[in-house]
Amino acid sequence: MKRVSIFGATGSIGQNTIDLIKRAPSEYQVVALTGGGNVRQLAADARALNAEVAVIADPARLPDLRAALEGTTVECAAGASALQEAASRPADWVMSAIIGAAGLRPGLAALAQGATLALANKETLVAAGPLVMSEAARHEATILPVDSEHSAIFQALAGEAPATVERVILTASGGAFRDWPLEKLEAATPEEAATHPNWAMGQRITIDSASMFNKALEVIEAREFFGFAPEQIEVLIHPESMVHALVGHVDGGLMAHLGAPDMRHAIGYALHWPARAPLPVARLDLAALGKLTFADPDPARYPALDLARRVMHRGGLSGAIFNAAKERALDHFIARRIGFTDMARIVSAVLDRTDAAPGVVDAEFTLDNVLNADHLARIRTDEIIASRG
Ligand code: NAD
Ligand code: MG
Repeated sequence: MKRVSIFGATGSIGQNTIDLIKRAPSEYQVVALTGGGNVRQLAADARALNAEVAVIADPARLPDLRAALEGTTVECAAGASALQEAASRPADWVMSAIIGAAGLRPGLAALAQGATLALANKETLVAAGPLVMSEAARHEATILPVDSEHSAIFQALAGEAPATVERVILTASGGAFRDWPLEKLEAATPEEAATHPNWAMGQRITIDSASMFNKALEVIEAREFFGFAPEQIEVLIHPESMVHALVGHVDGGLMAHLGAPDMRHAIGYALHWPARAPLPVARLDLAALGKLTFADPDPARYPALDLARRVMHRGGLSGAIFNAAKERALDHFIARRIGFTDMARIVSAVLDRTDAAPGVVDAEFTLDNVLNADHLARIRTDEIIASRG
């Protein structure tokens, strides 16, 4: 039996992971399930999967969790230190599907106990790539990418010599506003931004798809995970979301990975790796589809992509700053304190300010300094927004 833990079990990736586990319950022993605040979902899954421990991030919800799991053997816990403890429990495979930088510490704890980390939480690599990769190497832990694009690249690279890779292309649907007139974007609402043409995902990543901040994070994620140079990583708009990524080799060949837009493919690939197993995802009917289309992203519509380039060239802790400023700007957009197009302007202004304070960006790459840069970026974001009146 494979011992598995799922961090962010109540979210979109978490629920897709649980769907796969529930289809073969005799193959898995569930160690830890965690959620942010949704006690009902967490308790129902912990019961159904007979988890060892259920952890709710919000300590105020612990009494509810205990009540919901009364009469079971599932241990209940709450708060950040309980998340750490749960991540330290021996498991063979740990799904990292908390959203945001909050996923970093549990991910590091899972690596420290040598687990295979299925990494959906791209923020972990954006904020702390060098630290995370060196911790994985130090503990002989494996990281498997779960982002669809990165899983696609990982699969396309299998059996290839890394040195023969010339470039990689990440595809992007273009999000909710791909075809909107540019002048309308300023007034776009969180509800409008949170509708995705192809993928069913959590609210935050869906809005990040509309702004292309999601792809900006993914470009940095690709650099940190695979070690590509910034110039090797390209982005193509592909409205059908059937080709997830392409790998170009020195001989001019392009290896594409295609599949239906269903995260259970990337999750299932990581769950069964290095084997392949049947997965309950729709099969593509290319004839019915007829054609696949591609276009270059318009920098005026998607300024986040240029910000990602800037971050990669600046290096140091600028990824942590970029991610934190983005998370905070997104909070303010969801709360309707700023407009949709303000997000990129504000993140850019935070990068300007922190670049001017090199002690932060160029500090040594330790967990404390990453968390400090993250914290500072959130304060700067709030300051910049407050100063706009
Ligand atoms: P989601 O918002 O649906 O779920 C997030 C999960 O994290 C929930 O269980 C939530 O309760 C928990 N959580 C939120 N804040 C927390 C905190 N501070 N502490 C502890 N737990 C907290 O998000 P999602 O769409 O499932 O995305 C999860 C991660 O996977 C993100 O990093 C996202 O970028 C990545 N990802 C998602 C998709 C997708 O299809 N949804 C695809 C690729 C990558
Ligand atoms: Mg993705």
